Amino acid sequence: MAKPTRICCIGAGYVGGPTMAMIALKCPEIIVTVVDLNESRINAWNSETLPIYEPGLFEVVKACRGKNLFFSTDCRYHVAQADIVFVSVNTPTKMSGVGAGKAADLAYWEGAARMIASVSTSSKIIVEKSTVPVKTAEAIGKVLRRNCPHPDVQFEILSNPEFLAEGTAIQDLTNPDRVLIGGKETESGRAAVAALASVYAHWVPAERILCANLWSAELSKLTANAMLAQRISSVNSISALCEATGADVQQVAHALGTDSRIGPKFLNASVGFGGSCFQKDILNLVYICESVGLKRVADYWHSVIQINDYQKHRFVEMVIGSMFNTVSGKKIAILGFAFKKDTGDTRETPAIDVCHGLIADDARLSIYDPQVQQDQIFRDLSMPKFQWDHPMLPNGAQVPFSSREIDRTVSVSSDPYKACAGSHALCVMTEWDEFKALDFDRIFASMSKPAFVFDGRNILDHERLRSIGFIVYALGKPLEP
Ligand code: NAD
Repeated sequence: MAKPTRICCIGAGYVGGPTMAMIALKCPEIIVTVVDLNESRINAWNSETLPIYEPGLFEVVKACRGKNLFFSTDCRYHVAQADIVFVSVNTPTKMSGVGAGKAADLAYWEGAARMIASVSTSSKIIVEKSTVPVKTAEAIGKVLRRNCPHPDVQFEILSNPEFLAEGTAIQDLTNPDRVLIGGKETESGRAAVAALASVYAHWVPAERILCANLWSAELSKLTANAMLAQRISSVNSISALCEATGADVQQVAHALGTDSRIGPKFLNASVGFGGSCFQKDILNLVYICESVGLKRVADYWHSVIQINDYQKHRFVEMVIGSMFNTVSGKKIAILGFAFKKDTGDTRETPAIDVCHGLIADDARLSIYDPQVQQDQIFRDLSMPKFQWDHPMLPNGAQVPFSSREIDRTVSVSSDPYKACAGSHALCVMTEWDEFKALDFDRIFASMSKPAFVFDGRNILDHERLRSIGFIVYALGKPLEP
């Protein structure tokens, strides 16, 4: 294939937007258009207030928007024009029917594939950017071929999973550890891989562009997320043991991390992982393992999620248990609601489960997050939450909090000091840097006594907090004497 001149990406979300902005920035001769059915999202991409918060993203978008980067709702037109079509639509966990609660819901993907097939009058490379189950390319290939009215049109499907992390997306895209491209081992497959590699070669060193077969590339993404989450669950499981034995999880993690075979990253004990990907991708992996009869392997990966749920549950128990076994009527400040720092994304954030646990004990919550607004927090907390394999609930049961209950018990503050004033405890849910720099003398003076701190991210200076007068609890740290 000749060098691509037009790229279209279906899906203007956390992945589609930043990845295409980076391609546009690095490849000024390529016209990049990101399309989405969601009009308000596209309007936001075309405005001064982007639909997602990501450090450095606005500068990248501003540098090329209107030159070679465009955002549009006219999906059919831009797909028809493109040489390469990235598909970066959401692939959530299926909520009903066969595989509910585990399998990936490929309905958005299938819809996108049918649309591509129906509008294509020229051959195209179709790139799986979304995280999909292994073998998706086979199914998608059938949808594309059998729905395209033009027999001469060829589709070459590639897997090019995205490894960016929210909060560091621009950094990750600028300097990726690797770019993985999976394709068929045929002449046209190799040509398509080379064409996509030539796009990344504008800024990614050749040795970091890895080629693989389609199924390896698809499976690598699921496995990468499962292993990252497994590391978090591993250290979190050890945090429970630390509390029981007087060991300090930060000291243990430091000792582990200096072993070059283990390495220091992803070893922070915390209230648990969140985000839209880890849980859904592990569930998907579990489902695939079960589908091919590998029950033991499925159970192994499922335990990563179980430990994550256990950690959130333990945190709630730590709060309630240390506050004399009840938080009924007590005001608790929740610092941070996003699932990690430097993002406004709240999908699967552990803060939701912790807030639910505290509301269930009749606490009053006062929440502050620098990037998450009140309507988002209220939506998240009052959304029915489906839980599978929950020890206390039948499959598919909803955790029951009406929006009226949430309105009555939760307030959202635009200032951390206001959120903490009059509270009995503050809980750190997100590792925002600004929390480390708060004036804790001022906060202590404004709180009910005894004033508790529960550090769910181990980011605060516990010694200093104790010297001010706080009673401090943290995961995996020696408990208060
Ligand atoms: P997202 O929900 O933010 O964005 C997906 C977008 O696709 C939505 O705006 C939706 O309106 C649009 N869409 C769905 N069907 C469409 C269609 N037929 N036509 C046009 N637009 C359509 O999702 P995301 O976080 O960007 O994730 C996308 C994929 O990338 C998922 O598979 C996810 O697992 C994977 N991924 C996500 C991350 C991450 O950090 N968020 C990282 C790596 C991979």
